[in-house]
Amino acid sequence: MDFSRIQEKLEILADAAKYDVSCSSSGGNRKNNGGLGNSHASGICHSYTEDGRCVSLLKILLTNHCIFDCAYCVSRKSNDIKRAAFTVEEVVDLTINFYRRNYIEGLFLSSGIFKDADTTMERLVRVAKKLRTEHRFNGYIHLKSIPGASEELMKEAGLYADRLSINIEIPTEKGLKLLAPDKSHAEMIKPMDFVKNELILYKDERKIFKKIPKFAPAGQSTQMIVGATNETDLKIIKVANHFYQNFNLKRVYYSGYVPVLEDSRLPSIHSQVPILRENRLYQADWLMRFYGFGADEILDKNNPFLDLEVDPKLAWALRNRENFPVNINTAPKEMILRVPGIGTKSTGKILMARKFQKLTLDHLQKMGVAVNRAKYFVEFESENIFNRLIDEQNLRKILLSGMKSKFQNPFSQQLSLF
Ligand code: SF4
Repeated sequence: MDFSRIQEKLEILADAAKYDVSCSSSGGNRKNNGGLGNSHASGICHSYTEDGRCVSLLKILLTNHCIFDCAYCVSRKSNDIKRAAFTVEEVVDLTINFYRRNYIEGLFLSSGIFKDADTTMERLVRVAKKLRTEHRFNGYIHLKSIPGASEELMKEAGLYADRLSINIEIPTEKGLKLLAPDKSHAEMIKPMDFVKNELILYKDERKIFKKIPKFAPAGQSTQMIVGATNETDLKIIKVANHFYQNFNLKRVYYSGYVPVLEDSRLPSIHSQVPILRENRLYQADWLMRFYGFGADEILDKNNPFLDLEVDPKLAWALRNRENFPVNINTAPKEMILRVPGIGTKSTGKILMARKFQKLTLDHLQKMGVAVNRAKYFVEFESENIFNRLIDEQNLRKILLSGMKSKFQNPFSQQLSLF
């Protein structure tokens, strides 16, 4: 094996894969100076399994050759960059070697479309199949699916991969047509729909026949690029919600557009999507998945962008003061979940504890609630400590100054998300 050529390919194809945030890159480059293990920048990233474990993955493209010309993509055919392609055997060998050395626990494999959808997908599937059947590899495999690939190949992919994902890329069809005229959402949705149906089918069959193999046990996910086109946050979270509800998605990932190319259709090469916008989208996503919020509640046409100063749950509470205070001892679970400073775990503790005693603010503090925020939105029969007549603007100022002083205190704990 020509190791220097493999190393060169690895550098090119790991670098090209870094724009996919379906798993985030560790970016570490620590050498082994006699200790145990090391971390290398080329293509090792972290991802989370279904049970919440953080795993390191080899994150690479099979090739950055592509017949498409998506304006936002560094691998687009008109971009003058160094191209490379791994063979199936090379990816398999790299994965096994890295795995044996304990560098990684799995593989995240994507690809440019080098001939057509089926030829590319077939090669991705072959990597996964070889790893599972010839090397009996039990590590995590995440395969990117190629829009337009046949159902047979998608089915095979699901039998060898833990997770499948198809990137929606641009939230609206109009935006997609502007930047990636060769693509359409319909073409991306078709395999997503197929995977959703297979997931249901295999799950049902496994209830009857235990020997039926698992199909993509870690489910499917997608990614949207934020800020390459001018969709509002409201539009983006509505699209995400649609995918969660209709395609059984495990996760939607939001990737702030990284300007790498000059193009009149794209934002300036010097512009940058604030990382906070990405963070706020993830928080809004969390509210939809675990807190019972609808996209239309988090934002509306008068407030189409997420507030960068405060998290979306606090922003909603400030805009909807008529829903507060929430009586901690009597309110239903849905309302307790909406109190800023109270998370899902604390909600469970509150519901359990209030069966046995009347709760007070002290109890909430002991349960881990961020009472500095929650106290303005809750009430207790015996206490009415905080003036709820403070208007939205003043309450916002009070809460913001509290957050700032907390962040300025180096000994304070980091605020929880909600
Ligand atoms: S098809 Fe994928 S790899 Fe090819 S240019 Fe478009 S986004 Fe890039």
